[in-house]
Amino acid sequence: TGLVVAMDGPSGSGKSSASRGVAKALGLRYLDTGAMYRAITWWVLREGVDLTDPGMIAARAGEPVLEMGTDPGAPTVAVGGVDVAGPIRGPEVTGAVSAVSAVPEVRRRLVAEQRAIIGAGDIVVEGRDIGTVVAPDALLKVYLTASAEARALRRAAEIAGSSVEAQQADMARRDRLDSTRTADPLAMAADAVELDTTVLNLDEVIAEILRLIKE
Ligand code: C5P
Repeated sequence: TGLVVAMDGPSGSGKSSASRGVAKALGLRYLDTGAMYRAITWWVLREGVDLTDPGMIAARAGEPVLEMGTDPGAPTVAVGGVDVAGPIRGPEVTGAVSAVSAVPEVRRRLVAEQRAIIGAGDIVVEGRDIGTVVAPDALLKVYLTASAEARALRRAAEIAGSSVEAQQADMARRDRLDSTRTADPLAMAADAVELDTTVLNLDEVIAEILRLIKE
């Protein structure tokens, strides 16, 4: 495979902006794997699948066709032919995505699709398990962190009408679910470089990652 940069870390750590910035700077493609889990979640919600029943989620999650656009300047996500870029960021999907992504069949499907996209050429990939599971041979693995306050501030700034306190509570809940699930839990790869973005601005984070790639 070609050049792969793995960008893992919890939500609000600045992964998306940093990943897109690095991909743009180097002319690489970009894949947001969280958007894939969100898209499947959007679809099972729309189908009325009972989210407390992992067997039902597993049985249905393979049905819809997922299409990911990998231009870092304008990434796209469609499921079953529907553009879901907007709705997958809403509170309904955000509230349900950890339950859907904990289902092993969902992960097996999406990891296979992620590897196929990665295999097509040089790319920056962001997620939770890229360095550990999806692309263990990545040239560079970055694990982004930030203080809980900084992460909640960033998320609250992105979402109209939300409070920092509500974001912090929601992120703590998702982090707990994501890091304690049995299948592919959120964890730092042994050979990842940890980058704490609490006191860094976006340009500084991108510059540091570009420096690490050139090393
Ligand atoms: O990155 P984002 O917050 O959009 O991810 C949404 C959810 O998708 C995460 O909370 C996690 O449950 C799941 N996810 C995952 N593995 C990935 C990327 C995201 O389980 N590689």
